[in-house]
Amino acid sequence: MVSLNDDATRSPSLWFPDGTLVIRAERTLFRVYAGLLARESPVFADMLAFPQHETEMERVEGCPVVELYDDSAEEVRCFLEAVFDYRTFLPPPTRTTWPILTSILRLSRKYQVDDLTQRAMQHLSTAFPDKLELYPAANPSFDVDVRGLKTIIRVCRDLSVDWALPAACYQLCTMAGDVAAITGGDVEADGNYLTGADACHDRGHAPADPHTPSPSHAPEHEHDHHTLSPSDTALLHAQHTLLRAETGAKMSAFLHSPPIARAIPGCPSPKQCVQTRANLRAQVDASLCVSLADGTESKSNAFPLALWDGSDWDRLNVCGVCLEVLRYRHKDEVQEFWRGLPARFDVVAGGGGSGWARLRRERRRDLGEREVGFVEWLGMNV
Ligand SMILES: [Zn+2]
Repeated sequence: MVSLNDDATRSPSLWFPDGTLVIRAERTLFRVYAGLLARESPVFADMLAFPQHETEMERVEGCPVVELYDDSAEEVRCFLEAVFDYRTFLPPPTRTTWPILTSILRLSRKYQVDDLTQRAMQHLSTAFPDKLELYPAANPSFDVDVRGLKTIIRVCRDLSVDWALPAACYQLCTMAGDVAAITGGDVEADGNYLTGADACHDRGHAPADPHTPSPSHAPEHEHDHHTLSPSDTALLHAQHTLLRAETGAKMSAFLHSPPIARAIPGCPSPKQCVQTRANLRAQVDASLCVSLADGTESKSNAFPLALWDGSDWDRLNVCGVCLEVLRYRHKDEVQEFWRGLPARFDVVAGGGGSGWARLRRERRRDLGEREVGFVEWLGMNV
């Protein structure tokens, strides 16, 4: 029997005195029931069926210890709580938090607890729609900030949950006040990794400090599941700028079309309408330039899907004929933009359709919904 000779501490919430198995993650010990865990997770079942060197296995209070090297104590706590107390992670519309959601999504996939994976997917789907008319999500079952979005994007990339990525990546670009919010991990005012998620926090056990300036100060275990990958950091950095500039300008191009110097056919007041469009176009261009010149200024309405809203249309003082044409053109631009989102964020390769058809099939599969219809299967309602 080997005893623990370091500063490992018991989880206050997951320590059953009659438990038969101790799980260790970082410096936290969880005492749970081996049989129950094996029933829920085929991975743990295998692990426990063939214990290695049983006689030499580390033991705590007579229980064998399984150490999880690649998972943080917080993740393991959220996951085990969901396994041993279903009330901690009910399906939507019951609310949850993004740290709980991402922890359970990642570990339930890893340890193959399929019911929990599906429940996590259901929560994810409330925040990241696959259809333009549902964006932004009206009733997400969890709140999310910049740090949360970065974690969600990382976990979804790692697990190939592709259908959530276009909306999540776009939302991150619009929420990040400046590029530093995307490239750095330390711009949030609170500076706390578990923002708004105290329910998922083991007291007395500090989470890895995201501000840690150098590897020499790194915690015992480095977990990179909470930060964007280097390739996503570069991609989202670039898109943050692109979306505010070229794409933003493109989204107001409908004011140009048909060519701004020419009247829209059927317009009863061509002179006035042409002038109005030209003036507004100049205003839009100027506002985009202002927001770009001052790189740190957050100008959320410069993002493509929010560039024009109800009040903008009210300001567009043109005749009914022109208004109808311009609305139609704008809708076209917006739909084209949405179609391009999966390729824009490297979720699908460019060419051969938008990719949304595949993503919607995968979303239905992940949510446990019935098979798709033939028309959708053909990818015709993209
Ligand atoms: Zn007109």
